[in-house]
Amino acid sequence: MRESFFENTELIGLIGHPIKHSYSPFIQNYALELKQLDFVYLPFDVPAENLKIAVTAILALGLKGLNVTLPHKEKIIKFLDELSEEASIIGAVNTIVNDHGKLMGYNTDAHGIIETLLPFKDIVTNSNVTVIGAGGSARAVIYTLLRHFKPEMINIINRTQQKADTLVNDFSLKMRYDSFHTFELFPPDNKETLSNSKLIVNATTMGMFPDVEDTITDIEDSFNEEQIVFDLIYNPTKTKFLQMAESQGAKVVGGLQMLISQAAKSFELWTGVEMPTSEIAGKLENYIQKNSAQ
Ligand code: NAP
Repeated sequence: MRESFFENTELIGLIGHPIKHSYSPFIQNYALELKQLDFVYLPFDVPAENLKIAVTAILALGLKGLNVTLPHKEKIIKFLDELSEEASIIGAVNTIVNDHGKLMGYNTDAHGIIETLLPFKDIVTNSNVTVIGAGGSARAVIYTLLRHFKPEMINIINRTQQKADTLVNDFSLKMRYDSFHTFELFPPDNKETLSNSKLIVNATTMGMFPDVEDTITDIEDSFNEEQIVFDLIYNPTKTKFLQMAESQGAKVVGGLQMLISQAAKSFELWTGVEMPTSEIAGKLENYIQKNSAQ
């Protein structure tokens, strides 16, 4: 554990609301310590009405950068100077870099999604896939699928179907892809769509701590043993949704690997140094076990 901070110590951190249960401070500070970098990463709970002031503070206080989480990933864009290609297409930013007074917005979630799905590339390419959700992270999933996995067809299921339709319009224009179908989230009706998909991704907040008993569907026939089911939620590490898919023989993947991979990309953008991800993964699992036992 470091013992002191000096005038050259760089400040990085996280803004969101609420942020109490985020693992990012643990991941980033542990990686900084392993690499002996003179940075410190702090969480800042910023409600929506303070977002603009918080962005001004990056410049006023000379922060090196910030992670951005719920609910600010989309609204923060109008306060930034420039966006990376993926952040601009996705329409959401999860990492800001203060580049000598210029605020650059990136979306490293896309990198976390690539790293998580890469082992299944052969299954996903040219297949039917379903994304549940139409928020910022669903957009990152769809960008990544189109850019790197080339599925045959993408179904989007969302509680508010109109948001799914807006998303489809955006991506059809920006990425010239038109094999989308949208559906309202209504589990009995979604069964066929889900069971005919080789990849199912939950990109909603349904099932996230503390509402761990919630699930997108409790219809077992939605799943089968030829599927990959990926839930972006990392707390709990295996959601009720994943438990059900696994019970039907599907291969399931939780959000922890994505969390670490997106954190690694942000770390690299701020420090120029590669994050030692395998060491972090082991430590993070211990940290989660210890904290969920309390
Ligand atoms: P967001 O932009 O707020 O979108 C939330 C989505 O969840 C929307 O599609 C919303 O539907 C849906 N939703 C919310 N409550 C619901 C309910 N009760 N029933 C059905 N649908 C509901 O959030 P986000 O940034 O995309 O994040 C989504 C999830 O991804 C979160 O759990 C987050 O922790 C996770 N995530 C994980 C990582 C990682 O590294 N593993 C990274 C980013 C995000 P409506 O459109 O109808 O409101």
